[in-house]
Amino acid sequence: MSKTIILSNRLPLQINIKENKLQVIPSVGGLATGLKSFHRDGDSIWIGWSGLTTEEIPEDLLEEVHTEARKEACVAVNFTSKEIDGFYYGFSNRSIWPLFHYFMEFTEWEADNWETYKNVNQKYADKVVEHYKEGDTIWVHDYQLLLVPNMIRQKEPDAIIGFFNHIPFPSYEVFRTIPWREEILIGMLGANLIGFHTYDYERHFLSSVSRILRRQVDFNEVVLPNRLVKVDSFPMGIDYDKFEQAALAHQERSSEKESELQQRLNHHRIKSPDSKLILSIDRLDYTKGIAHRLRAFEYFLEKYPQYVEKIRLVMLAVPSRSDVPQYQLLKKEIDELVGRINGKFATVNWIPIWYFYRSMPFENLIDLYTSCNIALLTPIRDGMNLVAKEYIATRTDQTGVLILSEMAGSSEEMYEALIINPNNFEQIANSIHQAIQMPKEEQIRRNTFLQKRLKRYNVEKWAQDFMKALQKTYENKPAYEAIPVSKEEEEKFLKRFSKAKNRVFFLDYDGTLVNFVDKPEDAKPDKQLLDLITTLNELKKTKVVLISGRDKETLGTWWKDVPVELIAEHGVWIRKTGKNWQLNEKVSNDWMEMVRPVIETFCDRTPGTFIEEKNYSLAWHYRKADPDLGEKRANELSNVLKQLTSNHGLSVLEGNKVLEIKTSGVNKGKAASKLLMQKNFDFIFAIGDDWTDEFLFKELPDSAISIKVGLKKTAATYFVRETEGVRKLLNQFIEYD
Ligand code: UDP
Repeated sequence: MSKTIILSNRLPLQINIKENKLQVIPSVGGLATGLKSFHRDGDSIWIGWSGLTTEEIPEDLLEEVHTEARKEACVAVNFTSKEIDGFYYGFSNRSIWPLFHYFMEFTEWEADNWETYKNVNQKYADKVVEHYKEGDTIWVHDYQLLLVPNMIRQKEPDAIIGFFNHIPFPSYEVFRTIPWREEILIGMLGANLIGFHTYDYERHFLSSVSRILRRQVDFNEVVLPNRLVKVDSFPMGIDYDKFEQAALAHQERSSEKESELQQRLNHHRIKSPDSKLILSIDRLDYTKGIAHRLRAFEYFLEKYPQYVEKIRLVMLAVPSRSDVPQYQLLKKEIDELVGRINGKFATVNWIPIWYFYRSMPFENLIDLYTSCNIALLTPIRDGMNLVAKEYIATRTDQTGVLILSEMAGSSEEMYEALIINPNNFEQIANSIHQAIQMPKEEQIRRNTFLQKRLKRYNVEKWAQDFMKALQKTYENKPAYEAIPVSKEEEEKFLKRFSKAKNRVFFLDYDGTLVNFVDKPEDAKPDKQLLDLITTLNELKKTKVVLISGRDKETLGTWWKDVPVELIAEHGVWIRKTGKNWQLNEKVSNDWMEMVRPVIETFCDRTPGTFIEEKNYSLAWHYRKADPDLGEKRANELSNVLKQLTSNHGLSVLEGNKVLEIKTSGVNKGKAASKLLMQKNFDFIFAIGDDWTDEFLFKELPDSAISIKVGLKKTAATYFVRETEGVRKLLNQFIEYD
């Protein structure tokens, strides 16, 4: 039976050793909390690091670590402390984490850490491959494992792989600063589906792929030579019922069963019934804006002194990554800030901030969520922020006000909260004031919407949606209609080829026989190609026609010594075997004087674009331009030219990163038809990659073998994925003959 393999840096459990005995406890953190219920219910294994380095596990306990993990359907991967230093504390947390959260000043680029990151990613990928069986689905999580999808793909080319990035994906301008940016993107693109929390992260990723790798992006799909990669946003939800049920149970428990924390919270409420508690919970991380929050709270107390002795900030900061220097500095800063603010405002009856620096058990979290009237969450950047969702889920009487930073991914789906900019203290102070004053009915109205949404799109739904979308990328593999050229199809072609009395091959040049390059003049045929075409053309009963949009001078020079038939400029010119070039169509080029200046203005305004002047057509190339700007300007230019040329018998062809203006009625299809009328060909083969080749495919008789290169919609019957496939196929005919 096929299974799901979940892969994340850490297992959803933490294994500790105390007095030579193993202790297994669940881990904290958004992902662990989020996926746990999915893992429990499904048929899956979870692979990840146990949390212990190999140096920390005594040899006699090593087997037990694996046994304990297996009991929870987990596979523990162990790393040395050196590996963890370079991979986790190093590259993941000192490079990717700060950069992806826009803290460029904290970002370090250490080549050694990058090497370790790669090696550790490879170990994770190998572990997945070890457990992988055909039909399994693999789900890789988060920024520590960005290279894993492609590492798995190298070994299991047909695997179904999903990748989810739980932190923000930065804008291209920030992402491009990474020294190894290409490798990271290629690593991620090994997946079939890449998920982000929000549409913004998704579009930043697509923009980086298109600008850095120069890959074509169609809406939310990346077109690779042999695969499509889907990119989509799936905002992660919480285990809503767990929090709601815990809050309900909390209300019903007797007072003897209350925790010490709850008793203190109750005491506060009883002592001053009109006072309010503001809650703040996060890992102690510089992205969470804890210092901002404290300063804004200080400003609030200054601006609204009537709340002194009435408002208290209950702040839980969970220790995190304390081996990284920035986190140690942050801890110091927060300690000092809390001390200073408490010192400044405290009275004999009251201190403004209750500060806890520890992690709390689930029951205590519920105590805090249910007892605090306001939640104040002000991250400077946060991929999602689950605490915001958990706070709302526990508010079973629907009271409570959430103040949430617009920089948290969750703010995009929680717009009934009071949304603030964490850098705007005035706005935060006013929002706290608004929250204190907010009538109960309004609180209930806002939270009703929030709760309904969170309940529906909970973590199970999130995981299911991602999995469904992942399966779909596999089932609907081709977004095109043509049939792939398989071994069986090849056999059929070869049989027909060998039986035929008169064979013709129509071969497009750029993107079909050679790959695209930045400058068209660099796409000269290599020796292997010249030999291939010469041999094919020398076969008996076989005519080879190179049919291209290129000008006759270039084609003529490149193919000077090969006696193939050439059709240039989409059919304007023909060079029959052993003859000179002759006009194939009656065309004029008087119109060029009118059109050229218009295109020139587009060249001036669009860096990287240029005009190619042919005898009877003008082409505007934008392959080297910024991809978005190129498409935008191509659209504009196409519209301008269509208006300008409509009365002059001209047409505008939209090719692969090129617009071409030429006399209407001249196209590859028409040129091929003319040639086909001259003889009774019983084997017609045509192959091309471009929009201009579609004229050819449409014009050919049904019996023809028409093949598109690449994964695009086409009128051709078949497709091959890339130019290498074209050469291989043509070689087969030679070998078979
Ligand atoms: N959490 C916890 N114990 C604590 C404090 C927090 O288990 O003492 C949990 C909290 O319930 C939430 C998660 O830690 O599910 C934090 O997730 P979030 O997305 O807010 O932030 P992250 O830590 O993933 O950046």
